[in-house]
Amino acid sequence: MFDLKGRVAIVTGGNGGIGLGMARGLARAGARIVIAARNEAKSKSAVQELEALGPGARAVATDVTDEAAVRRMVQATLAAFGRLDILVNNAGTNIRKPPHEVTLAEWRQVLDTNLTSAYLCSHAAYPAMKAAGGGKIINIGSMMSIFGAGFAPAYAASKGGIVQFTKACAAAWAKDNIQVNAVLPGWIDTELTQQARRQVPGLDENVLRRTPTGRWGVPDDMAGVAVFLASRASDFVTGTAIPVDGGYSIQG
Ligand code: NDP
Repeated sequence: MFDLKGRVAIVTGGNGGIGLGMARGLARAGARIVIAARNEAKSKSAVQELEALGPGARAVATDVTDEAAVRRMVQATLAAFGRLDILVNNAGTNIRKPPHEVTLAEWRQVLDTNLTSAYLCSHAAYPAMKAAGGGKIINIGSMMSIFGAGFAPAYAASKGGIVQFTKACAAAWAKDNIQVNAVLPGWIDTELTQQARRQVPGLDENVLRRTPTGRWGVPDDMAGVAVFLASRASDFVTGTAIPVDGGYSIQG
């Protein structure tokens, strides 16, 4: 039920953090992986690690805000592995400022990287998935898909949008046997949140106090939900948003 042998997955931003944690899970379950991100040195090292875990991996240098690059990412995947079954829209960024300090350029950078990228990648992947008779799209939201934060207006808007975009795609593509779901990670220890801990006073203490499991997540905590949402086990699950947060979102 969870076997991904013969399947091919693109993981955007899969060269580190949550994306690499998910890619490790998919590779161990038997999928071949394409890592789509900008930093080629990081992608190369991720590919080496994934090749040791599963049946194959490639890096395709991609800026997910660039429509032409995203189309090339899908073409390169089909050229390398002959099919595309799973797309993980994980690439993301944040600029931490209150709304009155965010410039239009910063707003666009966050929305383009976190939300428009999911549209571009899903749009580019759809024809191959439809032709193959089905597929799985996993979008990465956040606790800020549910809550707000004064220091992250563009990020919260993008992550709220991801959940609604997920529902729209799920409704549109159910007839094509493409399931589209979102994962809402809690606070996971990655480069992104190491930066946040430096920029937001008290964040570390607040996360530890509020998370019932009493710890930050690690990227490998995201592997299981990725395998579930990429496999036959989730064939009747679509349009939903699953928190993977150590209980952060159930504690007031
Ligand atoms: P990281 O900073 O470790 O990873 C971000 C990834 O996104 C990198 O691999 C980066 O690769 C890639 N990326 C950024 N911009 C682009 C771009 N324009 N084109 C292609 N790739 C890009 O952060 P996380 O692992 O923490 O974040 C991954 C996702 O999880 C994000 O969507 C984030 O919002 C979300 N998230 C994280 C949480 C956490 O606690 N860590 C909580 C909730 C959600 P490169 O620079 O090489 O392009």
